[in-house]
Amino acid sequence: MGFAELWASLLPVGRDAATGGYRRYSFTAADLACRAWFREAAAQRGLREVCDRNGNMWAWWDAPAVAGASPAVVTGSHLDSVPDGGAYDGPLGIVSAFAAIDELRARGFAPARPVGVAAFCEEEGGRFGLACLGSRLLTGAVDPAAARDLTDGDGVTLAEAMAGAGLDPAALGADEELLAGIGAFVELHVEQGSGLSGLGAPVGVAEGIWPHGRWRLDFTGRADHAGTTRLADRRDPMLPYAATVLEARQAASAHGGLATFGKVVAEPGAANAISSAVRAWLDARAPDQGALDHVVSQVEAAARRAAGAHGVEVSVRRESFTPPVVFDPALRGRLISALAAAGMAAPVLATGAGHDAGVLAARLPAAMLFVRNPAGVSHSPAERAEPADCETGVAALAAVIGELAGR
Ligand SMILES: [Zn+2]
Repeated sequence: MGFAELWASLLPVGRDAATGGYRRYSFTAADLACRAWFREAAAQRGLREVCDRNGNMWAWWDAPAVAGASPAVVTGSHLDSVPDGGAYDGPLGIVSAFAAIDELRARGFAPARPVGVAAFCEEEGGRFGLACLGSRLLTGAVDPAAARDLTDGDGVTLAEAMAGAGLDPAALGADEELLAGIGAFVELHVEQGSGLSGLGAPVGVAEGIWPHGRWRLDFTGRADHAGTTRLADRRDPMLPYAATVLEARQAASAHGGLATFGKVVAEPGAANAISSAVRAWLDARAPDQGALDHVVSQVEAAARRAAGAHGVEVSVRRESFTPPVVFDPALRGRLISALAAAGMAAPVLATGAGHDAGVLAARLPAAMLFVRNPAGVSHSPAERAEPADCETGVAALAAVIGELAGR
């Protein structure tokens, strides 16, 4: 089966008819359908499918038994989505992984070490708020007890959601045995910017990932009547929030980073009332740690200043953080030479987006391939990659697996 057919078989799963975006949240019906799709794709290829203790799925192309355990080459990405996300972010890496295995087999390639396809759980944090949850649990980067207590927007805990999907939340935690068996991880991902478009290249190699994180800001004021409360008497949390949003833009621009308020909740949410509280989430990213610290402290200072001026309380809490990632230079070098041998010149780029490969990079050699995104739009139904570029991505991944898993 070629890339196009496999891609088409996943495309309808979890797509919202009204927006055209994807709502593949962990352990919901859409996610369970994605998981069934993964099992089916593995079964069709005779790959050995396993779900690990953290809800990550693995499909293994086992190598013939050889003397001494040879560490595996793993490729893959994630199947979950942000709210109304695009079709490519995550699934492109998994569909390409299966298609690359098909291509290698069609060529008669026999791996000298196991090749795995991984689908990491809750990469986007779209349901439980902590990005890369599955890979963080796998590597021990997050405490399993804290993870079990994470709640979604309806107050359902991760433990409850996992149990509902037939998984055992008590088993969550680092999996050293699994990690020890992996020699390299390569994630293929749609580019989430327009770097490759600008360079005229269909495929690129990641250099590293900017440090990034999420901060929650709670502005607490006083609910009151919109028609009777004099301006001077108000403690309106919306005002310092608004000032903070504008400052975030300034701070990001001043330090060469990015700052976004993409989620905000006004309570109680009445059109004719002053809010009692405004809860907002800052997503901040920058090329280096110093610049990121500057962005966040400038936003926080502005929030405190504006809150004070309006008689509003504010608290700021870091919800998640990923330090800068520099991918293994030796592995990156092998990718570049494998691509060159296959006739592909792949530029090297940095990214501001977090990925499971970035989490795994703390524990084992990891690398990433990017596939050109013509408009550079991601986390949106408008996210796109040309079919020809997807095919080039499969060829690139096959060349890389061939290099890493060959004799
Ligand atoms: Zn992704």
